[in-house]
Amino acid sequence: MKGAKLRLIILGPPGSGKGTQASILARKYGLLYLATGDIFREEIKRKTDLGKQVEAYMARGELVPDELVMEVIRKKLESGSDGSKIGFILDGFPRTERQAEELDKLLNEINLKLSAVLLIDVPDEEVVKRLSGRRICEKCGAVYHVEYNPPKIEGICDICGGKLVQREDDKPEVVRRRLQVYHEQTDPVISFYEKSNLLYRVDGLGEVEEVHRKIEALLKIICDD
Ligand code: ADP
Ligand code: AMP
Repeated sequence: MKGAKLRLIILGPPGSGKGTQASILARKYGLLYLATGDIFREEIKRKTDLGKQVEAYMARGELVPDELVMEVIRKKLESGSDGSKIGFILDGFPRTERQAEELDKLLNEINLKLSAVLLIDVPDEEVVKRLSGRRICEKCGAVYHVEYNPPKIEGICDICGGKLVQREDDKPEVVRRRLQVYHEQTDPVISFYEKSNLLYRVDGLGEVEEVHRKIEALLKIICDD
């Protein structure tokens, strides 16, 4: 399987394991990994103008306006698309039908085609369990779970020794809102890609390794087509 040719979107509710699976794929196939949530959190940390504009939406569990999201994606994809030969994986984007349409236009402009859209299917009850135990490294952003994927030393990142913290938007009140927003605004994105025959569903229940194996099996079929 040639990583350089894989151009993937990973879709699913918050906490379904998109970041976990996307990082594994990005490392394995040398893909450009773009997670809009991570990009915005970094901007907030650096107190940039963009960070200031998106902070309140994120804290409430609402979506950042489409224009701001598209500006970020355009810059990243255009600057990473040297010779239009890159492989990439998009995580947390597109999240609205409008973003999906804009992405289509952008990819056309830079002559890139999507290979597939992977939907990680996880029921809402499981999402709540995963998000309530999620911890991230405040230094490098690595993702852990207190029960399902604990660090070697409690509260400390295995990779860089940074402190592990809970995301503000992983608190229960905000999680409920994020799930509601997902069903209202991101469910239509699923139908959008279903119509263009790009959507592949993956059962997201089971261990990280097991979900990864299911994705690999799908990619094999997609790439052999
Ligand atoms: P997303 O990027 O979709 O928001 P994450 O990849 O951050 O989701 O995963 C959410 C939480 O669930 C994290 O704490 C992660 O360690 C944990 N997690 C991810 N995949 C699994 C899995 N297959 N089984 C159990 N926990 C998981
Ligand atoms: P995530 O890290 O993917 O869970 O995203 C965290 C938050 O960032 C979301 O709840 C939104 O507020 C914002 N966000 C990330 N990606 C997008 C996007 N594509 N469109 C709108 N808002 C986004």
